Amino acid sequence: MATEKKPVVDRRDFLKVLGISGAAATLAGCGNTSIESGVEKVQSYVQPEDFVVPGNSVFYASTCTQCQSNCGIMGRVREGRVLKLEGNPNSIISKGKICGLGQASIQVQYNPDRLTTPMIRDGESLVPATWDQAIKVINQGLGKDSQISGDEIIFLTNGVSGHQKVLIDNFLESYNSKNHIAYEALSNRVGETVRENLYGYSNPVQKVKDAKLIVSFGNDFLGSGVSPVFMATQYAQFRKAPRGTLIQIEPRMTLTGGNADRWYPIRPGTEGVFALGLANALVQHPEYDKTVPEELKLALKAYDKYTVGEITGINPDAIGHVVAMMWEKSPTLVLSGATAEGHKQGYQNAYAIELLNVILGNVGKTVTPPTENPFPQMNPINASYQSLVNLDNQLNTKKTKAMLIMGVNPIYTGPSFVDIKNKFKNVSLKIAMVTQLDETAEMCDVVLPLLSPVEEFGTHVASYQPEGIEISIQQPLMEKLHPHTKSFGDVLLVLLKERDPKNYSKYPDYYSYIREAVVKSKPVFKSSMTDDEFWDSALMNGVLHVPPKEAEFTKIKLNTADLPKAENKPLDVNYPFYFVPSIKADLRDGKHANLPWLQESPDPMTTVVWDSWVEIHPKTAEEMQIREGDILEVKSSMGSLMAKAYLFPGIQPNTISIPFGQGHSSYGRYANNRGVNPFKIINPITDEKTGELALFATRVQIIKTGNKEKVVKDEGPTTLQQGRKLVVTMAADQAELSKEV
Ligand code: SF4
Repeated sequence: MATEKKPVVDRRDFLKVLGISGAAATLAGCGNTSIESGVEKVQSYVQPEDFVVPGNSVFYASTCTQCQSNCGIMGRVREGRVLKLEGNPNSIISKGKICGLGQASIQVQYNPDRLTTPMIRDGESLVPATWDQAIKVINQGLGKDSQISGDEIIFLTNGVSGHQKVLIDNFLESYNSKNHIAYEALSNRVGETVRENLYGYSNPVQKVKDAKLIVSFGNDFLGSGVSPVFMATQYAQFRKAPRGTLIQIEPRMTLTGGNADRWYPIRPGTEGVFALGLANALVQHPEYDKTVPEELKLALKAYDKYTVGEITGINPDAIGHVVAMMWEKSPTLVLSGATAEGHKQGYQNAYAIELLNVILGNVGKTVTPPTENPFPQMNPINASYQSLVNLDNQLNTKKTKAMLIMGVNPIYTGPSFVDIKNKFKNVSLKIAMVTQLDETAEMCDVVLPLLSPVEEFGTHVASYQPEGIEISIQQPLMEKLHPHTKSFGDVLLVLLKERDPKNYSKYPDYYSYIREAVVKSKPVFKSSMTDDEFWDSALMNGVLHVPPKEAEFTKIKLNTADLPKAENKPLDVNYPFYFVPSIKADLRDGKHANLPWLQESPDPMTTVVWDSWVEIHPKTAEEMQIREGDILEVKSSMGSLMAKAYLFPGIQPNTISIPFGQGHSSYGRYANNRGVNPFKIINPITDEKTGELALFATRVQIIKTGNKEKVVKDEGPTTLQQGRKLVVTMAADQAELSKEV
């Protein structure tokens, strides 16, 4: 008698063998389609859902959460699986466009390293657990009868906004706490503080498309700025006839610098001095007709073109060229950016740069007040490096009893002189909420697997609001892929219902919490729809808009106290190079290094992929006899890193650069043991005014190791025709193609 044999290949393996990806292997209409759930059923497409036409896509509106621009997006979904993301044309931020980083968020969803079950600490390791087991551990510290209160609990996040922020604050209130710490390793707090003090608004609207000339000091608004998709659409209009002119001043060429008409390499940290050189030339001009305080006019005299040239390393005549353009092309717009602000005198640099907008009369024209948000509780929390210092100080006191962490990885991004990792031991209950394990989560006691952004509900408010206020609605684009993942909101509500049943037991889930909150906002939008209609329309459009309101700046006060000093800083003989790490538009602070598309996509300036590299000016390299691929040790007083040399003409000759983003040790197969982490050699220098980490003020030395490796990049040979000594007789655009071709 034949015995029944178990199949040697289960269905999942079968699909793998066929090479059918998760996206293609779909079972629409099955509810939870995962095998692990044990409740899978197959439904024939003979009777599909009303809105499912087999083979045809449907689109759902949602919000990109890859960065804090919160662009409106549309998810193309087929047979229950999200396949591709596009921009949402209803969104005033994205205007129907999306960037590469946004596109890649689909790989958060299908990432093979996603955490699919909770994990709890067992001695030195984390072991898989059920939700009941994980909640039991959490309840021991934070449950119904917990006496933890005030600063004994910390909620550590990135710059969250919307109802995510509101729920976190509700959660902390149930412990009589306001201890929400928001940390961003690449924060904009220096520039924001300057604008707050000068204009009364940290993020005034900067009207790129209305300017005829943009002078940008290291503001990579097309790459890693505050709202790159919005700015790119504005920039496209700026470049339409009559074509606007872009001048970029920065020590290392960014993507925006690569698009500029003129690019000036400047000594890092001296951007404010150059700005004041321009300001001086403007106000001393006989035709200058705007009022600036006499005291300021006098102070600016110290910034004559020769002194400025000496300090900044830029030819003194550049001042005259830029000022001539400023006279000719009005209105202008002057932008301050990360590399100008990340110094000991970062505040003064940003102040001097912003002063140019005032002197040029741009305020009210290309720099205008933002619209006030009628829902201030939803505005993003200010996130900064200072918060990491605050966290460090709190952990030092050993009073913290519980810590929840979401959206940040301070053990990876924290500089080596802030030893968060060791101080974690002082906290008895650490809970990480993540989609994938990272360096910080692996140090925690409980790790909870979250839904991916394309499976989650939420609302968001971007910090940069260019045209009124956009409340961005996030909705799931597909059913959850892994049955044991949960919404962050549902996790908090489980605890809140225990702590404060009177206020929270009415919410069966996070969805109902969000829905109620959105529907309650109806009167502000003067909508006559029913609650159901209002909610459905919000989901369908993906956004709610508060129209722009005219407002005026009331606060502009100029002073001389905040001007950067016109002084030449001596070179450090032990560390003769400026270290200006670059911020890649995709990997950013390393949060996205787990996404293979981003690892694979060539760096726009160098085309290098899957790695870290040391950018060095060809002239400097020649003097030091360094060739491409030579392994260099880059050493600061905090430590050293090793990476391959890449000869890059777009860098100031005394400066070297390594991109942020790589050097992970526990962030999945695509990120681990790849490249190096520049955060670890940053010197303990902070901006004098705000206390923000001076990310671009570190000095380093370079040591040749004698080893060499090929740089993996997409560009062709950098030497013309691989040194074959050919003579070009005709440029490609002059050549007439052969008729036979
Ligand atoms: S700019 Fe940010 S929010 Fe917008 S699509 Fe790109 S990653 Fe997403």
